[in-house]
Amino acid sequence: MARKHSFHGMEVNSIARSTKCFQCQIQDTEEKIVEDNKRIHTGDCYEKYKEQKQRKVIENQEWSDLYEHIKQLHNALDVPPRNIKRLRGIKLSKNISYKLILDAYKIADDKLRWFIRDVLQDSNDAEAINKAMTVMLNSGLNEAYKQEKLKEQKQKSLEAKRDEFFIVEDKETKFIKKKDENDISDFLD
Ligand SMILES: [Zn+2]
Repeated sequence: MARKHSFHGMEVNSIARSTKCFQCQIQDTEEKIVEDNKRIHTGDCYEKYKEQKQRKVIENQEWSDLYEHIKQLHNALDVPPRNIKRLRGIKLSKNISYKLILDAYKIADDKLRWFIRDVLQDSNDAEAINKAMTVMLNSGLNEAYKQEKLKEQKQKSLEAKRDEFFIVEDKETKFIKKKDENDISDFLD
């Protein structure tokens, strides 16, 4: 809606209109980007929006990988809603990713395949998938979590080493540069 106001006695049409930012929910006339049919403040709000969108893409992919794995493990046409609900509950209550749950399934794979064949006798209804999920929780999740933490620590120490390397390299570069400029100050001590 165009507003009219006076400027040095002239009437000026202002196109700035009050809209609500999808990200922070604040309604104002600040400039906004339109993406996915949503209006979002430029700057921090847009950065946050993009970050969350990216996280969602990754999470959907991880969920889809986990879903496929469970389906194949049990030779099932689909994973019943009851099992899906439990998986979501595990993820939320432990604040972990679907990727970590998939890692746990892979770590417990031998045990799971034995359990499915010899104990569940290849039944693959919601009850059976649920029991196998308990095996995954007991035999895979802690190990998967430990491995993830170790990987994170390794990554951090690699980054620290890389930073150290760049600092050393930077000092050397400065030293060489000094020599190239025929700085005689080194000989004046
Ligand atoms: Zn905003």
